[in-house]
Amino acid sequence: MANVKPLGLSFRIDDLADETRVVRGEVAPAVLDEVVGGMIGELGYRAESPASVEGSAYTAGDDVVFEGRIRARIGYDCVRCLTSRALGLDFEVRHLLVARAQPDAFPDDDVVVEPGDDDETDELYPYDGDNIDLAPLIREDVLLELPMNPSCRDATGAECEEPLKAPPEPEVDPRWAPLLDIKKKLS
Ligand SMILES: [Zn+2]
Repeated sequence: MANVKPLGLSFRIDDLADETRVVRGEVAPAVLDEVVGGMIGELGYRAESPASVEGSAYTAGDDVVFEGRIRARIGYDCVRCLTSRALGLDFEVRHLLVARAQPDAFPDDDVVVEPGDDDETDELYPYDGDNIDLAPLIREDVLLELPMNPSCRDATGAECEEPLKAPPEPEVDPRWAPLLDIKKKLS
């Protein structure tokens, strides 16, 4: 196995050929942004690096097991003080890719990622055909690692250093405007 070239994130199941293969690759920032950019309201997360993937894949009957380590740097603005921050993700995943019983269900997709449950316990990823593309799974893994309301604390372990941005001033009811004018004159 030492002399065997590592597989990329997209590979043919035949490449595994009953042996464990090293898998190595990257998911580009633009591809990550398609998913993480939609989180935390208008601000959004932004990938500041590709997601680097290093792991191994092997077959278990008709299924394929992928185990690996994912690293990525994801930027965001603190939801409390709007300071620009970044999270350095470094975590491990294990995925079981299961051969789909009815191969015509999604003829255009090699791998179909099922909508995830809330928990992260061993989800099953059905695949069709002879190819596996891990990129959509890696992208979802990255998403699951990100907090929903990231603040400075998530990046630095400490509270915000900048003063908190005050909430917008409440609109003055127009009926009270003349009264407020009088109040200003008196003060
Ligand atoms: Zn902050």
